[in-house]
Order: sequence, then structure tokens, then C-alpha cells
Amino acid sequence: MTTDNPFPAENPFAVPSELPYQLPPFDRIEIGHYLPAFERGMAEQRAEADAIAADPEPPTFENTLVALERSGRILQRVSAAFFNVTSSDTSPELQEIESTVVPLLSAHSDAIMLDRSLYQRIQTLYDQRESLGLDAESSWLLERYHTEFVRAGARLSDEEHVRLRELNAALAGLATDFGNKVRDEMKASAVVVDDVADLDGLSDDAIAAAEQAARDRGLERGYVLNLILPTAQPALASLHNRDLRKRLHTASVTRGGRGDEHDTTDLVRRIVRLRAERARLLGFEHHAAYQISDNTARTVRAVEEMLAKLAPAAVANAQTEAEDLQAAIGPEITLEPWDWAYYTERVRRERYAIDETELRPYFELERVLWDGVFFAAGKLYGLRFEERPDLPAYHPDARVFEVLDDDGSPLGLFIGDFFTRTSKRGGAWANALVPQSRLFGTAPVVVNNLNINRAPEGEPTLLTLDEVRTLFHEFGHALHTLFSQVYFPKFAGTRVPRDFVEYPSQVNEVWMLWPEVLENYAVHHETGDRLPQEIVDRLQAAKQFNEGFATTEYLAASLLDLAWHTLTVDDLDAMGDQPIDVREFEAAALERAGVAVPFVPPRYRTPYFAHIFSGAAYSAGYYSYIWSEVLDADTVDWLVEEGGLRRELGDTFREGLLSKGGSADSMQVYRAFRGRDPLIEPLLKRRGLIAVS
Ligand SMILES: [Zn+2]
Repeated sequence: MTTDNPFPAENPFAVPSELPYQLPPFDRIEIGHYLPAFERGMAEQRAEADAIAADPEPPTFENTLVALERSGRILQRVSAAFFNVTSSDTSPELQEIESTVVPLLSAHSDAIMLDRSLYQRIQTLYDQRESLGLDAESSWLLERYHTEFVRAGARLSDEEHVRLRELNAALAGLATDFGNKVRDEMKASAVVVDDVADLDGLSDDAIAAAEQAARDRGLERGYVLNLILPTAQPALASLHNRDLRKRLHTASVTRGGRGDEHDTTDLVRRIVRLRAERARLLGFEHHAAYQISDNTARTVRAVEEMLAKLAPAAVANAQTEAEDLQAAIGPEITLEPWDWAYYTERVRRERYAIDETELRPYFELERVLWDGVFFAAGKLYGLRFEERPDLPAYHPDARVFEVLDDDGSPLGLFIGDFFTRTSKRGGAWANALVPQSRLFGTAPVVVNNLNINRAPEGEPTLLTLDEVRTLFHEFGHALHTLFSQVYFPKFAGTRVPRDFVEYPSQVNEVWMLWPEVLENYAVHHETGDRLPQEIVDRLQAAKQFNEGFATTEYLAASLLDLAWHTLTVDDLDAMGDQPIDVREFEAAALERAGVAVPFVPPRYRTPYFAHIFSGAAYSAGYYSYIWSEVLDADTVDWLVEEGGLRRELGDTFREGLLSKGGSADSMQVYRAFRGRDPLIEPLLKRRGLIAVS
């Protein structure tokens, strides 16, 4: 990396944005700006860190930790904008920059985290921590820096540092390879259908989408069913043609393991091996112990105990559901995995008379957003929203809203980017473009991304029930980001442990079916009629329907994640030269955990489990969703008991929990807010798991 690169002042990342809330000036950012800004940003932060390390003054909180928090401003600005567009609106050029930049960032981070003089200063402060007179947030900052340096390997020998850097670089590369292969394999495994009659059962929209997908791939005729990342493919719920269902299901579950150029099993073996080796180098039994020790769960054992409490009940419920389905099918056909969703929909219609197509006219995007999501935030927290078309976003579909507090004071910006497009990755997520911090005087700017199919020109976009839930969920992350009241940017908003971060977003889902909210937004887009109460009642009654399946497929994926990441170097050595058979390993792991149910495959099978292999964040962390849901269900219990959508409750949740971000130990924050440890019973009750536990 060279520091003598010209870095012109007109590069938009050179200085803080002058737009309101320091919104990145997307109207001025060009592709050519990113790489120079990354290079300059890393060089700048490296120089800042070197200066801190070489400071002849003895270490103080100010000259070491605050100085570190202040470092890397250019890098922060360019990273936030760049990784936002590589997720939301990528291109081959951006992907090329990404593959250049990711290993550089990994090496840059190692250079700082493995700097001995820097670590020595932090260790000195840490040893003096009782006598420094720090306030609570500053003490926690010291605690966190110390922990993070130790976890990164600062205490290891020079020789070990060499190996660690190699492992980190290799793992960064393998993760990128895994992600790319999974993406290419999804395209390659799409199911081609010649005859439209085979698509019987799909909606007109879905058939039109399949036809478009065929044209997109250059086919002159026919239809293509594209795969989505999880095992369960949406079309399985409605395709009448059983052979086609079987083809689609098989394409999904055999992805990445067919021994062709998209096979990922060798990558899995290498990632698992290198992670185990790195964990041992860092003084941990295995990768799972390393990852979980810095989460609120603390130990693998705690996670295993929690999952073991849920698994038998979930599996028993799934078995009962299977019997129901078999009864609905009749004796001629034996239930197979590709039949599950199809007959589930039939039973759902028969038992609850709920038909998705009947609901969608009541869920028009603008109404759900303004009269549902924003309305609930208004009632609960007093927020107001003003759309700001004058502020530039990174894509014409990304809409900017200014968020105001009850008294009209400015809080931050919310960007909603709701529609799917080929340049956007799958799924839904929230990310901060500007983190809140009092150190820099910044207010938050947060983005929500979804993948909703846009309606044809001139027609309203109607959502599925699931999409409505996702809108409320992601907005929960946005609220966590917007309400942040921390001093140090390290703690802004959602910068909390992985197994805590889904908690506030899951709580926000409760408002979606809350009567006062639902009746405000669920209005038929043509007739203006409200969603009839009897449909609402049926929705409420159907809440636990198919939860045995949903919980089992989720737990199976979580347990698989743990099985891979509790392998030790010794375990792997004991296998000798024989490479692990991924399929056999997976089957044995599910069997051992008691979740091997033939018609309920894991939500992700090993070869396409991108959450845990294409990035490190969720490795040994897929359990986080249900771990967070314990807190969510426990909090929703409190909301229900105290009367629901009331300002006092919103203010209590906001001040006691959401505003704290990561500025203190998350479980201590929870206890202080709730007045006790979380209870698991509300979660069991919600998922209908109480009977068996
Ligand atoms: Zn989430």
C-alpha cells in the first residue's frame, strides 16, 4: 500500500459529508473513488495507530483509547458507503474492488490488533483500571479494547503471529470463495420447465416471474424457477405437479454437494480445519468456544443446553404435524419432504381458511409503511417521519426519510430500499451509513433493505404476510440504531453481541398483528375495507400452525453449525488422511442431536450454509436467533401485561435498553431493564413447545 498515492480533496470520502446528518454524498460518489479512499483510509489509520503506539507519553485513556476511537475516519466513511452498495446495488466493477479490498482490510486489521506496543499501552491501562476514575461507558470501552486485542491474538509470540496472519488471510479468501460458489450454484441449479401446464398452482405473478427468469438467462422459451438460499423453496407450497416439486426440492438440497465445479464440500473442510487451528492458537478448545465466549451465551454448553430444551418438543410437534399432513394426503401417497409445504398450505386453508392471496390486497406497501410501521413507532415512541426526496440516496428506489422526535427535534435519517433487483443480494437486512456517537457529534443514518417484487407500473405493490413481518423486523433494527445515545462510536446502536442483536428487531414484530396497528394499516387497496375481524382471528389462531416444522428446521441448522465448529484439531487429526465425508458427518450430527427427521431437512444444509461459511459473523452463531427470541418473548410478555402500545412503555424500552447500544454488558442492560433474568417460558409458550418440555 502506498501513502504517496494522489488523494484529491475532491474525493467525496476525503472530508465528512456536508449533507444533513453527514449522509454520504451518493450523487458525487463514483466507482473510481472507492479504491483510492480505501488505500488512503487504511494508510491514515495505520499512521494514527503507529503514532499512538509510539507516543513517548505514558498511556492515558485519552491518548490511547479515545485516540483509537478517533482513528480511521476516512476508512469508516468509505467502508460504510462501499459495503452498502456492494450489498444493495453491486456491479462487476464493485465486486472486483471488493475482492481486492477484503484481504487488504483483513491484513490491515491484523496490523493494528497484533501491534505489541499498542497492546502494551492497553494492558497497562487495563492493569490500572480501578484507579483511572473512568465513567461506566469509558470503563466498558477499556474492557472491550482489552478483550478484543487479546482475542485477536495480541499476546501470542512473533512466530504465532506469522501463522495467525496466514490463517486470517486464508480464511478471508475461503469465505469469499464459498459465497461466490453458493451464488453461482444457485443460478446453475435453477429448475427449467418447458410446459406452462407443469406450473399449475403458481399465481399469475409467479408464472410471469418464471417466464422472465427464463428470458433473463437467454432462453427463448420455457420457464425457470430460481432457487432461494434456504432449503425450502417457496414454489413448493403451491405447485400441483408432484414430480416437479420433487425436482425443485432435490435441486435445492443437493446444491453444492454434487462433485461438480460448484461443489463446496472441500471449502467446508478447509474452513473448518483452519478455524479449529486458529482457535487452538488463541487458546480455545475449538472455534465454537472461541466465538461463543464473546457472546452473551458465554459457553458452548449454555447454547447446547438451550437447544436441547427445545429440540425434543419441536421434533414431537413436527411429528404430529406430519401425521396431520399424511391424513390430509390420504393413504395412497406417502409424505415426502417435497410434499410438506404443499399439504401444509392445504391444511392451513382447510383449518383456518387462510389464503395468502386473500390477504395481499390488504397489505399495500405504502399503507403498511406509513400506517403500520411508522404509525406504531409514533404511538410507542412519539416519532414522526418526513420523506426527503431532496436528499440523494444510492439508487432511485432507496427513499430517504427524516425521523423527528415528539418535540420536533431531529433524530436521524431512515433509508428504505424495499424492492428486489438483480444488483441486490437476497434476504433483508439493516445497516448504518453513519453511526451515532457523541464523540463525533453524529446522528444515525440507517438503511433497511428488503427484496419485495415491485408491482407493474401504475399498480400498487401488495405484500405477503411474511413481507409485512420483515418490514416490522428490519425497522426494529432501524429503531435500535436511531435511538442510540452512546458516546463512543464502537457502541453505536446495533453494535452489540451477535446473540443479542436480533432481540430488539424481533420485539418490533409484535406490532404487526397488534389490533390497533393492524386495523390502521390493513385496508383493502381497492374497496377501502378494513381486514375483517374474523380473518384477524384466524391469523391469530394460526400462529402456532407448522411451528414444529419451523422450529425443527431452524434447530437442525443451529445444531449442524455447532457440530462443525466444535471439532477440535485433535478430532480432525484423528481422522487421518481420510477427508470428512460432509454428507455422512451431517447425517450423524443431526442424528446425535435428535433432530434427524426425514421430512424436515435443516433450513440450510452444509454445502450452502452461507451464514456460517461465507462470513465469520454467524459461524457458531446461528443459534443467535432463538437465543435472542428468549429475550424478545420475555419482553413481549411485559408489553402485553402492561397494556401494549403505550408511550410510557415505549419510553421505558427506549431509555432502558435501545438507547444503550453496546455501551455496557448486554445482559446487565437487560436485567436492569427487566428487573430480573430472562425467562424461557414465554418463548416455549409462543412456539407451542410447552407441553413436551
Ligand atoms: Zn434481523
